[in-house]
Amino acid sequence: METLSIGGRRYSDPDIISLIRQSGGLIDPRWKIVNMARALIEESRTFSGLPNDPLERLKIIASLKGIKIKPMAMDQVRQERRDAALYPTDSGWIVLYNPACLKSRIVFTIGHEIIHTFFPNSRNGARFRSMTSPGSRESNELELLCHLGASELVMPIDEFQRQANSRFGLASIERLSSYFGTSFEATVYRLATAHPGLAIAGMLQYRFTREEDRRRAKVSNQRLLFTNEVTMQPQAAERKYRRQSVHLSAACAEAEAAYTIRFNKSFDPSSIVYKTRESGIQSGIESLPNFSDAIGRIEAMRCPYQSETAHEEFGDVFFFWEEIVRRN
Ligand SMILES: [Zn+2]
Repeated sequence: METLSIGGRRYSDPDIISLIRQSGGLIDPRWKIVNMARALIEESRTFSGLPNDPLERLKIIASLKGIKIKPMAMDQVRQERRDAALYPTDSGWIVLYNPACLKSRIVFTIGHEIIHTFFPNSRNGARFRSMTSPGSRESNELELLCHLGASELVMPIDEFQRQANSRFGLASIERLSSYFGTSFEATVYRLATAHPGLAIAGMLQYRFTREEDRRRAKVSNQRLLFTNEVTMQPQAAERKYRRQSVHLSAACAEAEAAYTIRFNKSFDPSSIVYKTRESGIQSGIESLPNFSDAIGRIEAMRCPYQSETAHEEFGDVFFFWEEIVRRN
């Protein structure tokens, strides 16, 4: 399979490769998508009377790309089992969305589908898409890029900064998400990606590492098989808050190797993220488990919607961090 490396990442999705080739192989596809989304927002602003309602506004934005937005019929909702689907028609694209979903989800999903049309290969329709199976590494690369672009479309950076009013923090998420018609989660991540300085947001889950999980499963199987024998004790593994997702501001992304938190990396047990069982937003001054020495203000709170894999006592947590001091 063909792969291309750019911006420190390797891509193998045929749609992403088609986009990289279109830019002469020089532009990081993440920046390309963000810039295309921003250009579309600028274009939409030349229209007077752009509606305030996030869904109506998005319909106008889509129309500039020749994309029609329509709700699915209910029998199709059952058939598709998806929040939205993108189809080529003779007169351009059509995005069909599931009207039974939460409006915040509909808005983001439509944004996501609009971004799919930015990839030159998409014009060839479903033939290319069927080359990557859902859940594969390739389809994940593409889905993450579409999320990135969707967030630019539904929460335009300048408007988000204006609304955040230079007080970036978890306390404004309710207000910002109702203004932009976006989910709590998407809005938390936007706090970082729209931040003008050094900022990071993400989700943490209280768990063992996968290796620890495998070892524990193996040990309990051995116990079942040889109940009379002394079996190996599991190593003193502890559940900790571990990185599930992470989103960086543009300034952090420029020094990604230093600022990113790798998947499953744990937060120190002294971190305020462990205090989120108490209600509300916890805050403190901490460095993060990454390669930077940076000290920042960190906020954390229990996610309003807990995942199926969340720990009962130490639930899933959102965190937001912004740098206040650099040591060197
Ligand atoms: Zn998608």
